[in-house]
Amino acid sequence: MPATAPAPLASRIDAAVAAIVPRLVAWRRDVHEHPELGNREVRTAAIVAAHLRALELDEVRTGVGVTGVVGLLRGATPGPVVALRADMDALPVEERTDVPFASKERTTWNGESVGVMHACGHDAHVAILMAVASVLAGLRAKLAGSVKFIFQPAEEMPPEGEEGGARLMIKEGCLENPAPGAIFGLHVTSILQTGVIGWRAGPAMASADSFRITVRGRQTHGAMPWRGVDPIVTAAQVVLGLQTIVSRQIDLTQEPAVVTVGAIKGGNRENIIPDSVELRGTIRSFDESMRDDVHARVHDTAENIARAARAGCDVCIVKNYPVTVNDAELTHATLPTLERVAGADRVIPMHKISGSEDFSFYQHVVPGFFFFLGVTPPTQDARTAAPNHSPLFFVDEDGLPLGVRALAHAAVDWLHANAG
Ligand SMILES: [Zn+2]
Ligand SMILES: [Zn+2]
Repeated sequence: MPATAPAPLASRIDAAVAAIVPRLVAWRRDVHEHPELGNREVRTAAIVAAHLRALELDEVRTGVGVTGVVGLLRGATPGPVVALRADMDALPVEERTDVPFASKERTTWNGESVGVMHACGHDAHVAILMAVASVLAGLRAKLAGSVKFIFQPAEEMPPEGEEGGARLMIKEGCLENPAPGAIFGLHVTSILQTGVIGWRAGPAMASADSFRITVRGRQTHGAMPWRGVDPIVTAAQVVLGLQTIVSRQIDLTQEPAVVTVGAIKGGNRENIIPDSVELRGTIRSFDESMRDDVHARVHDTAENIARAARAGCDVCIVKNYPVTVNDAELTHATLPTLERVAGADRVIPMHKISGSEDFSFYQHVVPGFFFFLGVTPPTQDARTAAPNHSPLFFVDEDGLPLGVRALAHAAVDWLHANAG
């Protein structure tokens, strides 16, 4: 049996995608102009749900993982189940692009007034998956098997104190009834030109964990340090000590890792040694056992340096996202599809990305492949284009139809290859 679906079906997919481009762009602009932060994607989710219902999908569940929407399309004949995922949330970024549909939204996030922008391009993901749903719904009579559409909130983390994102959607059953045999997702990126798809098998994006270290000293006069315990000097040693975990202690030939201290807070005037100093930072890794090892070393380093200074130390590490690991077999099985869709020379292997993705949670349950879609126009250099999360992040809409084709063909080819 050929790995890819029959050519007539493939050409029907491409014709349907070509026909839907104006709506694809309109959806993307509408969602872009009305961005919503994580767990607040009420309007976006309503648009998605209305669309899936209009397509007469067999099931449309709303409110999965707060604002998530899950649609199920059953083909005319039974067969395996494949899932496609798009994230819907925007970021607390004030948009500075000059597109006519630029966001003017403002809201409150973790107690602060912020601008809101689709600075990570999830607006494009929503529009792409809506278009894929249209295209595949139109081919339902030819499909053997089912396609599950997962529109997920809060990929960029829910507000403090709330659950959300992929983890919560899985908890609320998005990968059950029916359970998919594979899941695909994509991310638009400034680092690739329009027309290019980037991929990587195995660990592709980092795990992301945050830590908070409180060094507890004893407050005293700045002129008489011997009368107290100085948490500032101790914290400085901890910062430097933490840097030796990556540079001196872990096997960098295996996988890279990052330990960054991003915030340091303590003291309020020049001649008082304060009681305590707080450090906050992030840990990235590409291997789950190395991740645990780095965590243990952060504990050891901070606690033992503090002990040497006779200071106290509390280390709290919160595990956020696991390593995004693309299933090697699924990745390599999908590459011929992507190469057919984009052109072999436009499907390129990528370096690891030290950013993270909560698509990784799905991959812990079902083999998944997460790839990248270029959206930097030919007039710009992808090496210098404003990156995702920048207030100037720009999506070339000419790059979006390829995303629709890639997901639609990947889903149909996977169903075909895994039938019976
Ligand atoms: Zn992002
Ligand atoms: Zn993103």
